[in-house]
Amino acid sequence: MALLRTLSHQPVTSKNMSERPKAADLRSKKAEHHTHGPQELSRIVTDFKTGRCYCRGKLLGKGGFAKCYEFSDLVTGKVYAAKIIPHTRVSKPHQRAKIDKEIELHRALHHKHIVHFYHHFEDKDHIYILLEYCSRRSLAHILKARKVLTEPEVRYYLRQIVAGLKYLHEQEILHRDLKLGNFFITELMELKLGDFGLAAKLEPVESRRRTICGTPNYLPPEVLNKQGHGRESDVWALGCVMYTMLLGRPPFETTNLKETYRCIREARYTLPSTLSTPAQDLISGMLARNPQQRPLLDSILSHDFFTQGFTPARLSISCCVSSPNFQRSPRQSFFRKAAAAIFGGKRDKEKYYHTLKLSKEEDIHRLQNDLKRITIGTPPVTDTATGVRHSAPPRPPPTPPPPHEVRDSIHMIVRGALGTSCNSSEGVEDGTMASVVDGVARVLRDCLENMPEAESIPKKKVGSTFLWVTKWVDYSNKYGFGYQLSDHTVGVLFNNGTHMSLLPDRKTVHYSAELGNCCVLSSKEAKEPFLGQVTILEYFAHYMEENLMDGGNLSKVTDVSKPCLYLLQWLKSDRALMMLFNNGTFQVNFYHDHTKIILCCEAQEYLLSYINEERVSTTVRLSALINNGCSAHLRERMHYAYNMLMQLCT
Ligand code: ADP
Repeated sequence: MALLRTLSHQPVTSKNMSERPKAADLRSKKAEHHTHGPQELSRIVTDFKTGRCYCRGKLLGKGGFAKCYEFSDLVTGKVYAAKIIPHTRVSKPHQRAKIDKEIELHRALHHKHIVHFYHHFEDKDHIYILLEYCSRRSLAHILKARKVLTEPEVRYYLRQIVAGLKYLHEQEILHRDLKLGNFFITELMELKLGDFGLAAKLEPVESRRRTICGTPNYLPPEVLNKQGHGRESDVWALGCVMYTMLLGRPPFETTNLKETYRCIREARYTLPSTLSTPAQDLISGMLARNPQQRPLLDSILSHDFFTQGFTPARLSISCCVSSPNFQRSPRQSFFRKAAAAIFGGKRDKEKYYHTLKLSKEEDIHRLQNDLKRITIGTPPVTDTATGVRHSAPPRPPPTPPPPHEVRDSIHMIVRGALGTSCNSSEGVEDGTMASVVDGVARVLRDCLENMPEAESIPKKKVGSTFLWVTKWVDYSNKYGFGYQLSDHTVGVLFNNGTHMSLLPDRKTVHYSAELGNCCVLSSKEAKEPFLGQVTILEYFAHYMEENLMDGGNLSKVTDVSKPCLYLLQWLKSDRALMMLFNNGTFQVNFYHDHTKIILCCEAQEYLLSYINEERVSTTVRLSALINNGCSAHLRERMHYAYNMLMQLCT
């Protein structure tokens, strides 16, 4: 267990993709309940000008005027971070003017490292500002968990901050409140500069305002001395940010404010010798008392601190909670060997070493892009007798999507399929796989098109014993996608396109290289070429057993008489994980509210299970759903699930 957990590239799991409501979320939900006052925030919000409806999700944080929530567009499923400001909080003209200014300024900004401003609207009680959703919160949250960051990480973040800030200064805008909490981090660990509440147009020195309304976190001496705020003042804040990331505390922190201000005015702070010489030098340049002596943004990037040290191209998500290891450890070499065993032949082995090299250099993003390029639904077929890959008969054309579906709204992150190696970008047609996708799509589409509107799920519930995924772990940046079924079978769909299941007896292994083909092995007696894969399968099983919690209260069954079930395809978007099995079982897990939809066929009848935010499941016959309808909440999720499924046809 420890082996998987301590690897530098921590896998994305059903746990860290917010499968479990965090204590803080629960706390904030409670707080929310008490502080909403007269204008109760509704769950579904409509922008009457555009007609778009949004579903309000969890609280992301609170600011000066606003509360920030996850917001998803009910039609497209796109998730935003929505700042919601009650009109009562900005009732004074100067308060309203401040918000208007922030909106006007932010909406004109377009840069890779600036939080994107999507839209703004109002209703009678609130102002809504829809921003790019940064799911990994901010650098302040990361530093809180980490205490200090390594120099390569600091270079990684600072480069992006400088890029965003350079753009801002080119637009003649000063941020004036650069701090860790305003550097937002996306799902892919990219940094985005945000919060333009104190930002202002750059004025010539003589007409600069001498004060700022609001309290910037890292006040520079010239602002304390009422000489106004210039580009150099943002560089000062950057120096404070760099210092804080490397040492875990800000440079000017004393027990009383008067003393802190004196230290700032004199630019008096300590630089511990634990910092590298280039880091010390760069910080002291940025924290020069005289603004004119601070480096320009371009010279920051050409400083020795950047040119003489390694900057990772990407950071692993494990860096949110633990220090990265940029050197390969003996454990990694073990996995290197195990992985080489999986990939067999010399050429494939070389390709796999290349893959490992990429991940070692933290270039996971490139790897994920490679995975994205896999042609799903058109995997290569291997002749099991000869081992030769050849084309299967052309598959039937995919069923056309319903007119109202919005396929572009699925923002795919990563996917994998049985029979498709992550190393091969070309694929051939496979009619069998397509017929599974088609069958499920048809059933879902029929339901969506014919189901009437209703308040809730039909009363008539059914008991069932079908298998569903209770835990999952995405380790496709190295090995593959693992999951545990409700009967405790553990499956892994490896990046090389093969699948292995470890049955509940923890001895029997089922191996499949393509749909409809399954051979049985004993885990204890596994030999080459299966040994590496079996070892990894066992680690996945151990990892999930030890680290992950079940995803809902749906019944757990152990019925050995069931035919073998294995994952055909999986796909992750920015909102949900989709899994499709060989028997047509189709499951979609939504990350943000932990809801799940499972569609399966049992005794010639389709059943749909819905696991709600409280992890409580309801199973109904699909025919009952078609006759009686369901809530808008479930319908929207079914719609999104259908759209995800349709991605398999692209
Ligand atoms: P303030 O201006 O007081 O920092 P904001 O209203 O900008 O507050 O944001 C409040 C909180 O909402 C932030 O601290 C952060 O936790 C969260 N938040 C803001 N913007 C985003 C975003 N784009 N993505 C994710 N979370 C965000």
